[in-house]
Amino acid sequence: MSKIDIKSMTKDELSLALEEIKLPRFRTNQIFSWLHQKGVSSFDEMSNLSKQLRETLDDRFIIKSCVIETKRVSREDGTIKYLFKLSDGEYIESVLMKYKYGYSLCVSTQVGCRMGCKFCASTLGGVIRDLSASEILSQIHMAQNDENVRVSHVVLMGMGEPFDNFENVKRFLFLANCDEGLNLSMRNISLSTCGIVPKIYELMDVNLQLTLSVSLHAPNDKIRSELMPINKKYNVSELIKACRDYTKNTSRRISFEYSMISGVNDSDECAYELSQLLKGMLCHVNLIPVNNVRENNFVKSDDNRLKKFVSILEKNSINVTVRRTLGKDIEASCGQLRKKHISTQGGE
Ligand code: SAH
Repeated sequence: MSKIDIKSMTKDELSLALEEIKLPRFRTNQIFSWLHQKGVSSFDEMSNLSKQLRETLDDRFIIKSCVIETKRVSREDGTIKYLFKLSDGEYIESVLMKYKYGYSLCVSTQVGCRMGCKFCASTLGGVIRDLSASEILSQIHMAQNDENVRVSHVVLMGMGEPFDNFENVKRFLFLANCDEGLNLSMRNISLSTCGIVPKIYELMDVNLQLTLSVSLHAPNDKIRSELMPINKKYNVSELIKACRDYTKNTSRRISFEYSMISGVNDSDECAYELSQLLKGMLCHVNLIPVNNVRENNFVKSDDNRLKKFVSILEKNSINVTVRRTLGKDIEASCGQLRKKHISTQGGE
């Protein structure tokens, strides 16, 4: 019999499972707290349980977690990039960033990604598998315990497409938000998607207080389809319609991610077209100078181009900021470190 993934269970589910082995109710509280507040990765660490009980639990359940394979600290800004190894030997990445308001962790939702965006390192080897809710939570636990800090903000912007693993991601959100667990405020969580339209509606229906980020990167189908294959399935006008519906129904502002790539999507025309597209929507545009990935030839827009692009959006009353790039010296961008690690090991 394969062991049950105990850290992916809600408290009610855990309680039922523990009833089956005749444990009293207070044990659920203890065990849930060890798993979710303290983030332990073995039953042996649960010091207020008897050895016999720890063994019983170990026979039935598994605590899915990850271990630090490498850790890189940016000399420029203190940003930390973790390469974590999962129990089956796969690798994922997380990035810990310090802001004025606290610590923010960028977590992965899949090993690899199948979305195929041309500028992104995570997708180069395709998707290997989905992460369980417990494996997404473990990234937070490991970073918190390693640095001895509390992570107050989480962005689902690491490797993978959260909407391509939405059931586990929803479970993760529920558990992370739980006040007997990490107690993370939904308002401090952002979920980023490349634009899987039906899932935007599904998220709208669950009506969570989190921030939806949409990776737009181009104002029209011609450019977007070249950069992002998903656009051939759900085009710009369908995507923008879903986004408008989402903001109307939830009153939550959408954040559009737009990587500035020299000569590709950074012209004045693109800025005008983008302004038209987003006119009147409750939204915000985040411009990110594209991070160079060894496997492609994209070059980031220069400062003057960036400034001009910003000024056109501002003139058209679009909220815009240029994202500070953190961790440039540690290959902090999506999938870069894992890619490098597996290729130096002779994998993939
Ligand atoms: N799959 C989700 C979340 C992961 S990617 C999504 O597509 O939104 C997180 C963000 O980083 C996305 O906006 C993605 O488009 C962007 N990104 C990926 N590679 C990048 C690169 N080389 N330079 C700049 N942004 C990049």
